[in-house]
Amino acid sequence: MNSYKSYSLRNYDQIPRLGKLTRNEKKAIEIVGNVLPFKTNNYVIEQLIDWDNIPEDPIYTLTFPRKEMLLQHHYAKIEKMISANVEKEILDNAVYNIRLELNPHPDGQRYNLPTINGNQLNGIQHKYRETVLFFPSQGQTCHAYCTFCFRWPQFVGMNEIKFAMKETDLLVQYLIEHREVTDVLFTGGDPMIMKTQILSSYIEPLLDDELYNIQTIRIGTKSIGYWPYRFLTDDDADELMRLFEKIVKKGKNLAIMAHFNHPVELSTNAAADAIRRIRSTGAQIRTQSPVLKHINDKPEVWSEMWRKQVNLNCIPYYMFIARDTGAQHFFGIPLVSAWKIFREAYQKVSGVCRTVRGPSMSTTPGKIQVLGVGEVNQDKIIVMRFLQGRNPDWVARPFFAEYDENAIWFDELKPAFGKEKFFFEEELESIFNEHVYDDESENFE
Ligand SMILES: *Cc1c(COP(=O)(O)O)cnc(C)c1O
Ligand code: SF4
Repeated sequence: MNSYKSYSLRNYDQIPRLGKLTRNEKKAIEIVGNVLPFKTNNYVIEQLIDWDNIPEDPIYTLTFPRKEMLLQHHYAKIEKMISANVEKEILDNAVYNIRLELNPHPDGQRYNLPTINGNQLNGIQHKYRETVLFFPSQGQTCHAYCTFCFRWPQFVGMNEIKFAMKETDLLVQYLIEHREVTDVLFTGGDPMIMKTQILSSYIEPLLDDELYNIQTIRIGTKSIGYWPYRFLTDDDADELMRLFEKIVKKGKNLAIMAHFNHPVELSTNAAADAIRRIRSTGAQIRTQSPVLKHINDKPEVWSEMWRKQVNLNCIPYYMFIARDTGAQHFFGIPLVSAWKIFREAYQKVSGVCRTVRGPSMSTTPGKIQVLGVGEVNQDKIIVMRFLQGRNPDWVARPFFAEYDENAIWFDELKPAFGKEKFFFEEELESIFNEHVYDDESENFE
């Protein structure tokens, strides 16, 4: 039995290896941790972080606040308030305002969520025809928090933008009325934070014969990286394996969408054991991660990660581009550089690893893959395509933007060849004029 111990701003002074940090690094935890959510745990601290490599260690950077994660003037403001010991209310107010400046709803999120009989389905997003995202309300936290995560508003109590719902029966009803849906993707937070019993109460109804359209149940999770004991020694781990087996026996594809940012997360015995155990139920594991400066911005890191994943019988799935929210100034990588990292890594591995697609941006119109830089009549262009589109007809059609080696997000690109608009823009506008869609995009899980 491995017991989970989590650390946050409240008890970070009890972190066993804290002595390895300088005074300034500890101060950064206090200051940045007030604005961006901070949570880590004993497994991450003891088995993943190399404490002789602070602060550059990738997993330290992934879970611990570092000074540079806030813009200088934001950092200075909070630092000043804390040292002046201002009243809590004043501090909270300043923190709230900084958060608002960090683009908490990236990509023009709209909050008009699907409805059924006039009931708003707060925990459902349905953007791409085949797949419904479901946010069970008990799954809106994680075993540790990633410092780059765009879901951060959910963890810091900005409740008005927290997506959650309890009513599985409304989900079931929605799926019955939408027979085009084949996949349900459980996401969060991290759904594996839930007890098996609760997870099971969400999943079992989906196995009903009446939902013959549902062929794949996906669970987005970072728990193999952050708490592999969830699948091994937690007191309901065995029960969880039985639930997985039941889904598979029912003839459904169970896909664990595992989030790994760095090969070190695959290097422990516990992670390898967890993967073996999950696979033994008949579940598949597909992997995904954003490409992040300071964590995995080297091609060798990706080729090693994909290789290790395949050796452990996981299937590389997506490389994402970091969203324009939170600490993006710290983690962001220009699109062209991300493509170079992808390409070099892809060249280093054999075909069994090349199931991965990327680098991909989750934008309002869809998931856009940067296919690369090309040249037409001596003009450099960026070639892209949709991997997923609000309109399925947009998928897999190449389109072109002017070359821009500094652009880090799609909205900074201009159509190539002097065109005013990209091919889908007018249609996108008319889609929005017809119905206002919910536009939160996918989790990295
Ligand atoms: C990525 C994503 C999905 C799943 O897309 P696949 O390409 O099928 O993995 C579903 N819904 C949303 C909103 C997404 O961003
Ligand atoms: S990326 Fe996933 S695991 Fe990390 S904080 Fe966000 S939701 Fe949690």
